[in-house]
Amino acid sequence: VAQVFTIPVPTPFRIGTVNCYLVRGGALMLVDAGPCDELALAGLEHGLRQLGHRIEDIDLLVLTHQHYDHLGLAAEIKRRSNAEIAAHRLLAPFAANFEGAMEREDAYADAVMELNNISSETRSDLRERSAALRRYGASFDIDRKLDEGDRIDIGGGAFRVLFTPGHSPTDTLLVDEDTRLAIVGDHLIGHISSNPVMHRPFDREADPRHRPETLARYIQSLRKTAEEDLTTLYPGHGQPINDHRGLIATRFVHYGERKARIAGEIGAYPITGAQLIDKLWPRLPVDQVYLALSEVLGHVDLLLAEGAVREQESTGVIEFVTA
Ligand SMILES: [Zn+2]
Repeated sequence: VAQVFTIPVPTPFRIGTVNCYLVRGGALMLVDAGPCDELALAGLEHGLRQLGHRIEDIDLLVLTHQHYDHLGLAAEIKRRSNAEIAAHRLLAPFAANFEGAMEREDAYADAVMELNNISSETRSDLRERSAALRRYGASFDIDRKLDEGDRIDIGGGAFRVLFTPGHSPTDTLLVDEDTRLAIVGDHLIGHISSNPVMHRPFDREADPRHRPETLARYIQSLRKTAEEDLTTLYPGHGQPINDHRGLIATRFVHYGERKARIAGEIGAYPITGAQLIDKLWPRLPVDQVYLALSEVLGHVDLLLAEGAVREQESTGVIEFVTA
């Protein structure tokens, strides 16, 4: 049976440390890499050393999703270990040109924010912040492109690949078929609810008017995870989760309440995404604006699908009214 060890890696971000997981079977697998940063690299090296290993020993690096706090050191790990890098198929073009992918991400987010009437000051502030964060990632090639249902055999243990988009378009879970434990990245975190970030879609045209319905996809993925019989879930941040079904149920209660709150703010008079954010979170820090907009639009998309809300566009700005 494969053994799983947590290596907490420091990050300079609000989220705190990121969990990398060392899985020891016949081969040595690392799940997630931490951001491309000196302190993170030192933390990863320290954690590996305590377990009797070095970066050079890693045979396989698997990445749970596209966020730079999880994949930034992939190129460095590859350089030192020549480990095979495995990740979801959709992540391959993004990873191969990280800089270009982030540029397209930022352009997409900017177009979504402009359409939803976020001020140009906030948008350029966010653009600058995002550009400054790019140094925490680096391009690399994915050697093994994963699909739903694939098996990763490390000798003495095998993991099944589950595709659970929502927090990002590339969220991937690894389920150990023997012990029923799972390594889940940011798909499910115990102490905070994962943001359904409105990323540029990879599997369809990136049209800011045709939103990727991130929250609906995320809820669908959570339902899928709840169907899995699992013992322990190892998340990308914080402590292991032992009752994933209970946790998912509380997330659904929270989403139901938030959706009702947003439905209550949308009336006969048109309201924009920016105004909805102000109603829900007055005095929101600038770095949270896109996450807040992602969440608001995610709920609005649910209401649109239910026929409770209507969307219209007036002089380049999207507005919502009751249907
Ligand atoms: Zn993430």
